Amino acid sequence: MSSNFQRREFLRLAGLGLGLGVSGNFALGADKSKTLSVAREHTNYHAFGEMPLVRASQDRIVKETVGLRPFRESGPNLTHEKIGEKSVFHNYGHGGSGWSLSWGTSTQVTQEALSTGEEEFAVIGCGAVGLTSAIILQRAGKKVSIYSKDRHPNITSSVATGVWSPDSRICLKEYATEEFGAWWNKTCRTSFKMYQTFLGLPGSPIEWTDSYAVSNKPWDAEREKDPNDTQPEYGHFNDYVKDLTPQFVELKKSENPFSEPYAKKGSRMIFNISAYHQTLLNEFTSLGGRLYHREFTSPSQFSELPAPVIINATGLGSKTLFNDKQMRPVRGQLTVLVPQPELHYGFANEEAYVIPRRDGVVLGTISNGIIDSTDLNVNPQQSYDAVSAIAKSMTASKIAKSLA
Ligand SMILES: Cc1cc2nc3c(=O)[nH]c(=O)nc-3n(C[C@H](O)[C@H](O)[C@H](O)COP(=O)(O)OP(=O)(O)OC[C@H]3O[C@@H](n4cnc5c(N)ncnc54)[C@H](O)[C@@H]3O)c2cc1C
Repeated sequence: MSSNFQRREFLRLAGLGLGLGVSGNFALGADKSKTLSVAREHTNYHAFGEMPLVRASQDRIVKETVGLRPFRESGPNLTHEKIGEKSVFHNYGHGGSGWSLSWGTSTQVTQEALSTGEEEFAVIGCGAVGLTSAIILQRAGKKVSIYSKDRHPNITSSVATGVWSPDSRICLKEYATEEFGAWWNKTCRTSFKMYQTFLGLPGSPIEWTDSYAVSNKPWDAEREKDPNDTQPEYGHFNDYVKDLTPQFVELKKSENPFSEPYAKKGSRMIFNISAYHQTLLNEFTSLGGRLYHREFTSPSQFSELPAPVIINATGLGSKTLFNDKQMRPVRGQLTVLVPQPELHYGFANEEAYVIPRRDGVVLGTISNGIIDSTDLNVNPQQSYDAVSAIAKSMTASKIAKSLA
């Protein structure tokens, strides 16, 4: 892994990929986010109220999960084809951005599927992408059934970090063309807009939280090379949507509640996955949707379904079901601590990050992606390291010292 990559990954996971000139390997020309007539400047407000500590402690681990991101080299497959009598619309291959982009790609794919004029639809898969596609079709008044071999909590969507990360592992660098960027920009904006309609609902499916990133080195310093990381160069597009989210700004020494000398603060949107998944499922069933347990071993089996139009949202399942050789799993492991309802901020140092989800305090290491790995076993050392790295920052913080 290049040190440049690790710096980008740290800044991205820290929520700092925006506005720092870290768009990485996709050279953007003029500012593509010029959709605003009024500049969105940052006004600084001091943190108010007491800040709780992240209770990072090995004995508070309640869950360790491993998931395989459904990464596709040239980006999600949103094409369609005729298989026998059925019209099949693909919607898979979202990498590390499946929750974030689900409303965007599903809007595009379902619009095309609706243009068939049919009244009944089948969706294969009930992850982030399948459920969202099904709901959009139902909102258009159509009859929808979902068929899936697994469901929450035994699917990739259930083991995601749960942050707005729309350009995470979305394509390889060589596919990051201007055309792809323009498509991504549109798709990302559609998704973002939809997510704001889920704010303030019971169970807080979607929330905005403060987020801090700290460093012992200046932000533009080179980061150490990790010899074990085999990450390829991915496309990055976040500069297109700088205007969508609040800026991350550097804190003055007096405003920095941590011991690391460099700190930034911003806001980021998070997905409380348990509550959000349940919100989607409730809407699907309340609109008359039925969910069937069914595994497909060949697309020819689609002919057995009553619906004439099918949305294929099988994620990594498409690698074998459709023999898609562009699909490459990217392994990721998360460590979940006992929920802390009082915790209202996210945090990242150079080794690990914390997401303050309602369904558990989620920790991950900064280098948290192994491409082409299908190893679903938990690596206990990785969990240990994530918790230790956060504990180190917390115990040394000015917050801890003020409580001592
Ligand atoms: C560690 C980790 C962290 C992540 N963090 C984030 C994040 O913070 N933000 C973000 O936006 N994204 C994140 N992602 C990515 C995100 O989880 C995925 O992009 C997303 O879950 C993909 O959704 P999906 O519906 O396409 O796939 P899945 O959730 O895998 O759903 C596929 C569905 O298809 C079904 N299926 C598959 N094959 C068949 C078959 N042959 N027959 C019948 N049914 C089948 C499955 O049972 C399942 O129901 C993360 C992923 C991982 C692993």
